[in-house]
Parts: sequence; C-alpha cells; structure tokens
Amino acid sequence: MNLDSLTMFIDGEWRGARSGATFDSYNPATGEVWCHVPNADEADVNDAVQAAHRAFEGPEWAGLTATARGKLLYRLGQLIADNAETLAQLESRDNGKLIRETRGQVGYLPEFFYYNAGLADKVVGETLPLDKPDMFGATVRVPLGVVAAIIPWNSPLYLTAIKLAPALAAGNTIVIKPSEHASASLIELMRLVEMAGFPEGVVNLVTGFGPSTGAALTAHPLVRKIAFTGGATAARHVVRNSAENFAKLSLELGGKSPNILFEDADLESAINGVVAGVFAASGQSCVAGSRLLVQRSIYDEVVQQLRDRAASIRIGDPAETNTEMGPIATEAQLETIDRMVTQAKTDGAKLIHGGERITDRAGWYYSPTILACDSHQMPIVQEEVFGPVVAVIPFDDEAEALRLANDTEFGLAAGIWTQNVGRAHRLARDVRSGILWVNTYRAVSAMAPIGGFGASGYGRECGIDAVRDYTDLKTLWINL
Ligand code: NAD
Repeated sequence: MNLDSLTMFIDGEWRGARSGATFDSYNPATGEVWCHVPNADEADVNDAVQAAHRAFEGPEWAGLTATARGKLLYRLGQLIADNAETLAQLESRDNGKLIRETRGQVGYLPEFFYYNAGLADKVVGETLPLDKPDMFGATVRVPLGVVAAIIPWNSPLYLTAIKLAPALAAGNTIVIKPSEHASASLIELMRLVEMAGFPEGVVNLVTGFGPSTGAALTAHPLVRKIAFTGGATAARHVVRNSAENFAKLSLELGGKSPNILFEDADLESAINGVVAGVFAASGQSCVAGSRLLVQRSIYDEVVQQLRDRAASIRIGDPAETNTEMGPIATEAQLETIDRMVTQAKTDGAKLIHGGERITDRAGWYYSPTILACDSHQMPIVQEEVFGPVVAVIPFDDEAEALRLANDTEFGLAAGIWTQNVGRAHRLARDVRSGILWVNTYRAVSAMAPIGGFGASGYGRECGIDAVRDYTDLKTLWINL
C-alpha cells in the first residue's frame, strides 16, 4: 500500500479522485499524518454508483447463481483469514485501536462471510395458501440494486463486513464510504475483493468526507438502500437524502447502554464485564456500557474495585501487545470527552478516577474515568460520550433498576448481572434495548442480530433477517 497516495476502488480500477484532491489521515497514537487519502467529489461518487448499477444489471453478476455468489463470498472470507495480520495492523494504526483488539475482530471477520455465503442460496420466497382456489400465489425475493454503506471510524472492517456480506449474498452491488478518519483497512479489503474475483463494479469504495462524499452517495438516485452506522447528526442528513429517492435504510446509531449489577451477581465476572464493556476501544464503541447501575448494598465495594482496576490499566502504544488502553481516534473527539467530563464535575458528579488528558506522551490519550452520579438526569448520564468514561448510579431494588435502565432516549444494548434467573428474564423482557446480555457483555456472532431501539436507530444487521433486508419481495399471481 502506497501511503503517500491511497487509491479508491471503482469499477474494478484503482484510482484517485478525478480532481486529484487528497486529504491527510492521522495516526492517533502519535497525532501525526500517516497517509494521504483521495477526496472524492460528486463526479467520483457518480462513477462508483454508475459502475455498481451497470454491474447489477450486467450478466456477469446478475447471471451468477446464488450458489456461485456464495462461493465468491466464501473465497473472500478465506482471503481475509490469510491476510488478517495486515488488515489488523492497518486498522490499529488508522484508528488507534489496540492491535490485540483489531486482531481479535479481524480474526472473527471471515465468519461473517462464511455465514452469509451459506445463506446466499437459502433466501427463498414462499407459496401462499390463498383463499382463492383458482389462483396460485407465491412470493419471490429479488435483490434491491445498488447499496450505499456508510461506515464510522471505530470498527471499519467489522462494520463493513456486516453490510457487505449480506448485501452481496442477496445479489446486490455496493459502494462503500469509509470514515474520513479511517480508510486504510477498507482499501486493503478491496484488494482482497479484487483477488476473490468479483465482477468489476460489484464492490466499489469511495473515500472522502461525510457532508460532501457521503452526502453525494446517499443522495444518488440509483442507490436503493443505505446501510448507515454512525452518529445522530449525520444520520438525520442521511434520512433526509434517502427520502428524496425512497431508498431503504438501516441506521445503527449510538447508545448509552446500562450495565446493571445486582447484589447477587458474581462480582468478579461482573467487574470484568464492566471494565471490558466501557474501557475496550477506549470507550469508542456504540455498545459501551457507559451507565453503570449498581445495587446500593454493593455500591461502595463495586466503586472501589472499579477504581483499582481503572488505576491499573496500562495505557500506551496500541501496537504493543501488552497495552490495555490506547488513544482516542481524533483530537476533536478527545476535546469532546474532556469537555463532557469537566461539565459533569460542574453538574455535581464526583470524580472517582481519571478525568484528564494524558499529556506525557504524543498522540490523543484520555485516562479511564469513573464518575459517581446521584442524579440520573445529568448530561453525562444521558448523553453518549464515546470515550473511556463510565457514570455510576446507585439503585435500591429491581423496580428502580428497570426504571433507570429505561430512562434514556437510546436502546442499543444492556448488561444484566444477577444469579436470579427469574430477575434476569424479567429485565431482559422489560428493558427496552436491541441487545440484552445476561452475565456477559459484548458477545458478538454472525448469527445474532445487532441494532437498536429509539435514538439508537432501526433495522438489524447480522443473522438471517439481515439478508432478507437486502431484498425486495415480488408477489406472483397465476390464474389457474
Ligand atoms: P459520524 O456520524 O460522524 O460518521 C459516520 C459516517 O457518516 C462517516 O463515514 C462520515 O463520513 C459519514 N457522514 C457524516 N456526515 C454525513 C452526511 N451528511 N451524509 C452522509 N454521510 C455522512 O460518526 P463517527 O464519529 O464516525 O462514529 C461515531 C458514532 O457512530 C457514534 O455515535 C457511535 O455510537 C456510532 N456507532 C454506532 C454503531 C452501531 O452499530 N450502532 C457502531 C459504531 C459506531
């Protein structure tokens, strides 16, 4: 990969922006520019969408059997497995995530392709038991056309895989736009797409900024579905653009996920889950367990154990395998985190640990931060920080835990820590959230749907329904 000028992948060709424009991409561990990325404008985006549209209609892709599509996806999964270390290194350098975290994520990545490869020829319609004896009725599933995938910076490969694999399994073509903060690993993925042998134009990638490149892509009239992961502000623009063309939409947005600890929990595994839940990826995770609800009888004990764990976290270079927390992906995000923590202290939150930038090293680092909060209405308890910050709130009983858990505009994930099976089931039933983890946190599988309620978005990724969401339904009537 030539870091001086990365290239986009459009219609099977590697190229820069027509205008020749590029922008700088930074390594968060050093705060320095580490590569230059093409800045695609409307004309480049149009090239990519037109290529995807031609490929969708052309015989090379449309003429393939679903089984043959599945085999291509399987091949791509194998190539990812063979090139996992390169992908993990690029992503770690680009977004500052720990190499051991990107290795873990990339290690699982092939599974999304194997799973969807298996589904490609199992996306079936149904015969209809019509109430009209002289008619035969059936439904037929067909692909939608060109899919636009808009990807954030925190987990580019994973968040692309869960869109790309089902979209292709269902027979669509795709244009991917990485975040302006992390394009490199997805460009490397395109090299593997090329090696796998997909027909030209089936998979395309354009790089650039959200309000220009992203807006041009999501507003393009030939785009039939937009799969978006990111924040609420960008999502609102995307929804407005989709409205112009009635493109289908899935939105995976932010969260303020509660981790609920009851006094009967296995405290050791609960603390492990809480620490990994909020400090992994320096808290830059949509499912971060950033609201910790703790039963009052164990509150002091939990806060003390958490403080000890936070104090022992090894912060440093994400490329080192023994580092436990790396940098924040962008300087702007670092400033947002610092501002929100400062405001929380003004609002009356008690600082238990952290709450400061780490200035004795280059790059954009923030300390693991624990804030004890009496009021559930503080912005630090209600708003997504997207950083290593956990707000701890006490509760007295199950009813109060449930009320607090649901006192949020979000609804992406929730962790429930208890040995009481009935209570676990009651809360799993009543907490309004797309994912419920009981005595675990962050479990992910190609088979398990991901998505949110309320301000966390709509639509689901992963699992069988995700493939169906990349199809349209035709209804067939035959007069017998
Ligand atoms: P972001 O919303 O700033 O950017 C996401 C993507 O949208 C980027 O590719 C960006 O270029 C693009 N974009 C921005 N404005 C656009 C516009 N007007 N039109 C089209 N595209 C546009 O988000 P981010 O800062 O990269 O990521 C952080 C956010 O993503 C957090 O809120 C986080 O919770 C969310 N997230 C959610 C999930 C999930 O699965 N639910 C996963 C990861 C991240």
